[in-house]
Amino acid sequence: MSDSSPIEWTEATWNPTTGCDRISKGCDNCYALTLSKRLKAMGAAKYQTDGDPRTSGPGFGVAIHPDALELPYRWRRPRVVFVNSMSDLFHAKVPIGFVRDVFTVMRETPQHTYQVLTKRSARLRRMAERLDWPSNVWMGVSVEDESQLARVDDLREVGAAVRFISAEPLLGPLPSLELEAIHWVITGGESGPGARPCDPHWVRGIRDACAAGGVAFFHKQWGGRHPKAGGRELDGQVHNEMPAVLSGV
Ligand code: SF4
Repeated sequence: MSDSSPIEWTEATWNPTTGCDRISKGCDNCYALTLSKRLKAMGAAKYQTDGDPRTSGPGFGVAIHPDALELPYRWRRPRVVFVNSMSDLFHAKVPIGFVRDVFTVMRETPQHTYQVLTKRSARLRRMAERLDWPSNVWMGVSVEDESQLARVDDLREVGAAVRFISAEPLLGPLPSLELEAIHWVITGGESGPGARPCDPHWVRGIRDACAAGGVAFFHKQWGGRHPKAGGRELDGQVHNEMPAVLSGV
């Protein structure tokens, strides 16, 4: 599978682990779960472990891939890399020794910038002190609605150079969102069959909170049946801000 990424806010993906289990509403239409089933059927070696059908699916059982640890050393051109687009690095089934191995690779390849995103913020918080945080690692949590704001509190305790929130798919307003110690927020609507709608008022609220707090704001898409179905503009504007460390501001 290609390592280039169609995701607007990154350049490449790297999956040293694959597979996961749904844990909150934001997972209901997980694209990785659907894609893993297809990849298993195509015979892709990394996607032959089946997960619990209640929370996971064919080809989507958690699997670690030590062979994939070598890849970033081979990429000469600096890249912005989304780590584990097909998994969650802080899933309970990923041993801390392997998480450490992933962090070692990231530290030893400072030419790249790594974006790690999790919904397992409690495990992240517990593990964070035992990890070495190189400056090229950005750590983020997914927040789909107000019920998941504790993930942001966990993230604040992590010593990453950049801490970010991915509010995608955004499923409700976040009026209580507190942005202290947060550097970047991404918003986005859900896409694919059965996509749940994203209300512009919810995104406006987050945009305004970012503006008030001096936090970079990136609106990825409105979603719909296809990722680009609804475009990217909010009130006639495209929001493409990145954390100052990358934009050179
Ligand atoms: S945490 Fe992410 S990868 Fe795991 S099931 Fe949920 S959406 Fe999918």
